Amino acid sequence: MTRAYNFAAGPATLPLEVLEQAREELLEWQGTGCSVMEVSHRGKEFEACNAEAEQDLRDLLGIPSNYRVLFLQGGASMQWSQILFNLCGSNPHGDFILTGEWTTRAVAEAQRLLPLWGGSVNVVASSADRNFSYIPDESTWQRRKDACFMHVCTNETIQGVEYNFVPEQLGDVTLVADMSSHIVSRPVDVARYGLIYAGAQKNIGPAGVTIVIVRDDLLGKCRADTPRMFDYKLMADNHSLLNTPPTFGIYLAGLVFKWLKRQGGVEAIERKNIAKAELLYGYLDSQDFYYSPVAKRDRSRMNAPFRLKDESLNAKFLAETQAAGLVALKGHKAVGGMRASIYNAMPIEGVQALVGFMRDFAARNG
Ligand SMILES: *Cc1c(COP(=O)(O)O)cnc(C)c1O
Repeated sequence: MTRAYNFAAGPATLPLEVLEQAREELLEWQGTGCSVMEVSHRGKEFEACNAEAEQDLRDLLGIPSNYRVLFLQGGASMQWSQILFNLCGSNPHGDFILTGEWTTRAVAEAQRLLPLWGGSVNVVASSADRNFSYIPDESTWQRRKDACFMHVCTNETIQGVEYNFVPEQLGDVTLVADMSSHIVSRPVDVARYGLIYAGAQKNIGPAGVTIVIVRDDLLGKCRADTPRMFDYKLMADNHSLLNTPPTFGIYLAGLVFKWLKRQGGVEAIERKNIAKAELLYGYLDSQDFYYSPVAKRDRSRMNAPFRLKDESLNAKFLAETQAAGLVALKGHKAVGGMRASIYNAMPIEGVQALVGFMRDFAARNG
């Protein structure tokens, strides 16, 4: 068996130990005589699995007890509307920071729904002027004190920009964050946010699970026309088991949380992530065959877009990396060039192999 170093942005690489454990338990899980995929979500084994995954995530992120943790479906994309139904029951005015592809889509959904409800969307700040290659300085943000919420994406997966700060609290405005592509990569002060959401398939597990961490005073205030399946309170009251949840995804996310705990938790994984990012960006800044298009202070530790100065070599670079077992380095079409996603599960050896290859490729083609 040869496992490649997989730099895909998502679905993305998972820890080998976790995949091996899942393989080990695939046919027969927890003495049930069945696979985890074949047992009732209301049985005691799965309920325990669900509860343990939630507790492990709480431990990892230090989630305060007045926050609920939900395992939902529909991806981060569904949250763009679900948050509106739940948070905008009485005040349909949303503020947004526009920093890339994912916030652009979140804004588009709000622009579709909030005006129908007599509300409005305010783009507080945008980095569209320079191709979303930076985070606009907080001192320039034009926020509304009476907004219901302000939405940020703290790691823009496609453009590769990451917040290294938490936006300030303004009045009662609820801070909402899409953390899909860097959740559990670093500590986070959950209490500074009203709601955090993340699709699992970047840094947590397989596609199909969406994590929502929401402060409990925000529950039970949804619009009257909110579909039942959209109501966070109903989901929370039922421990995410209102209907059949994505059982295999929750099980696998649970294994990843256990793996993270064995690694020493998010502080320890953050140190490893810093070392990996420094290795890659350090190399990018040390030569002029490749370059990073992102402002230094806002560069993502998880997703590193980079370009070759001579774009005519792109196809050759991609074919040769693929042949060398370094896969999925093609950049998103919105940005072009290359992108290396180096999530928690990417070992430093993978980044060393990539940088080694890049050095050699530059020497041969420079
Ligand atoms: C991948 C991603 C999304 C979209 O996730 P889906 O699960 O496909 O809906 C949204 N936001 C961010 C930051 C992402 O990385």
